[in-house]
Amino acid sequence: KPGGNKQIKPELMEEHLKFSKGKVITRFPPEPNGYLHIGHVKAININFGYAKVHGGSCNLRYDDTNPEAEEQEYIDSILETVKWLGFTPKNIFYASDYFDQLYELAIKLIKKGLGYVCHCTGEEIKKQRGGEERGPRYACAHRDRPISESLEEFENMKNGKYKEGEATLRMKMDLTDGNPCMWDLVAYRVLYTPHHRTGDKWCIYPSYDFAHCLCDSIENISHSLCTVEFILARQSYYWLCDAVEVYKPVQWEYGRLNITNTVLSKRKLLKVRDEGVIDSLDDPRLYTLPALRRRGVPPESINAFVRELGVSTSTTVIEVARLEKHIRDYLNEYAPRLMAVLEPLKVTLENLPESHFEEIELPFKPRDPSFGSHKVPFTRTLYIDASDFREDITPNYYRLAPGKTVGLLNVPFPITCTEIKKDADGNVVELVCRYEDGKDGKKASKPKAYIQWVADCPERNSPIRLNEVRIFKDLFNHSNPQSKEHVPGGWLSDVNRNSLEVYKNAIAEVGLWDVIKKNIPENKNERLIYYDGARVQFIRIGYFSVDKDSLFPDSFAPEHRGSAKIVLNRTIALKEDVNK
Ligand code: ATP
Ligand code: MG
Ligand code: MG
Repeated sequence: KPGGNKQIKPELMEEHLKFSKGKVITRFPPEPNGYLHIGHVKAININFGYAKVHGGSCNLRYDDTNPEAEEQEYIDSILETVKWLGFTPKNIFYASDYFDQLYELAIKLIKKGLGYVCHCTGEEIKKQRGGEERGPRYACAHRDRPISESLEEFENMKNGKYKEGEATLRMKMDLTDGNPCMWDLVAYRVLYTPHHRTGDKWCIYPSYDFAHCLCDSIENISHSLCTVEFILARQSYYWLCDAVEVYKPVQWEYGRLNITNTVLSKRKLLKVRDEGVIDSLDDPRLYTLPALRRRGVPPESINAFVRELGVSTSTTVIEVARLEKHIRDYLNEYAPRLMAVLEPLKVTLENLPESHFEEIELPFKPRDPSFGSHKVPFTRTLYIDASDFREDITPNYYRLAPGKTVGLLNVPFPITCTEIKKDADGNVVELVCRYEDGKDGKKASKPKAYIQWVADCPERNSPIRLNEVRIFKDLFNHSNPQSKEHVPGGWLSDVNRNSLEVYKNAIAEVGLWDVIKKNIPENKNERLIYYDGARVQFIRIGYFSVDKDSLFPDSFAPEHRGSAKIVLNRTIALKEDVNK
């Protein structure tokens, strides 16, 4: 519901309506000081979504009023991410587009007797704001200086007369108000850091409190949607628009979204990097959007997750399992199925001739012919996963063991283990098995379990070697790493340093190449950072996607297959808890 004092001069409203034609206009206003994260998806869906259902439009506005923190890399990444999520901004604006206008409005504020240049230090300003330890609130000596003096000093600020911290422009609000956002907030400060767009044209920069509402006003935003921490700031938002007599948007608030088992703050993520646990802020264990993208998480599943939560006003910490459910639902529908083996163990089918060669036609998705099919070789030598063989068995173990029979997925007959070959250290290096095709008159029992396999058939380029397969666990052990009660050692102590598992000998069947060919453009240009869309289910192991550390030849013709470097991420395990 709209809140606060929303009286507005009829002529300002009229002017606004001339521009907006009564349509909803919103904006998504990130500061380009880091990658967007899962919480931002809520802000994006609310701003773009609210505009869309009302036939309006939404701008992307970079809130670039702090030259110290902002970088071009983040500007590019934010737009790329918004598009990846499926949204198209009507306009792309920068708060810095309005620096001239904002400066003029600051002068207007001073001229109206509602702004003054102040030379108090940050410490002094804090003291003036009062509080239990600091005593009563009070005005500083600069508050009542003549308008002409403030105009001159503001000019001096702009012309570089003052060092950083020596002068600010403050809004002359209401020190008797119960709302701290009314206690003479800073409007402009001196900063000599060059700005990524305006260079060294300015050495004064508007504060968030000054710039945000006025940028909304300049863009004719109808609904300024923001998170609940800004409820108190709503009063100063309205105050400033009224003070400089400009059109005043309405501000509505919604709750921030957080999820369990992670932290989202960029400062904290950089600490984790400095500890050497991750290399970059798009490490797939993080919940920045580049990280989720790199991990292979489909944007549709992130939007579905956020939409399911709705526009709550409370700040919520959502179980990460709820996001994971959407990821699984999506991938279950869209990911082709393939066989792969993380830790290959060689199997020789002793009763098949050396030259045995069959091709088995496999659907990419059983019961869904629209996915098509492909052929895999079946030969005398193949590989199964080492974890599907055990020497000592327990009562409920149905996979391969000495003398035991197991089914091979998609193969007509099961196999029975007849011999184990070990190396000098006693490690099992090969299994000799009988292929139970009944040709020798023996009949094997029906297998109780089926395992995946990959044929060794160099003539058919099988297997495809996977240079690295990365399996991730939660980066934080506790559901709320920031809870002082549950994590007394502090959030950093909760980092799971064993959250990355890497397999370097994994292999996949030849169908993987078809999926890669179909989803990754040949002759990819430099700008392609993430290999979107190359997502598969490895049967019994999980959903995987191609990591950006992969390298592909310019052409995907079969003869180039050997020169590819394939790095896969496990996006998610098949079932909840398997990765916990
Ligand atoms: P952070 O400190 O996490 O970067 P922020 O508020 O400084 O948060 P901005 O980049 O300025 O981040 O945010 C752009 C928009 O996204 C703002 O409207 C902000 O309120 C909103 N937003 C940021 N984090 C969340 C979140 N966790 N849930 C919902 N909205 C968010
Ligand atoms: Mg931010
Ligand atoms: Mg911000």
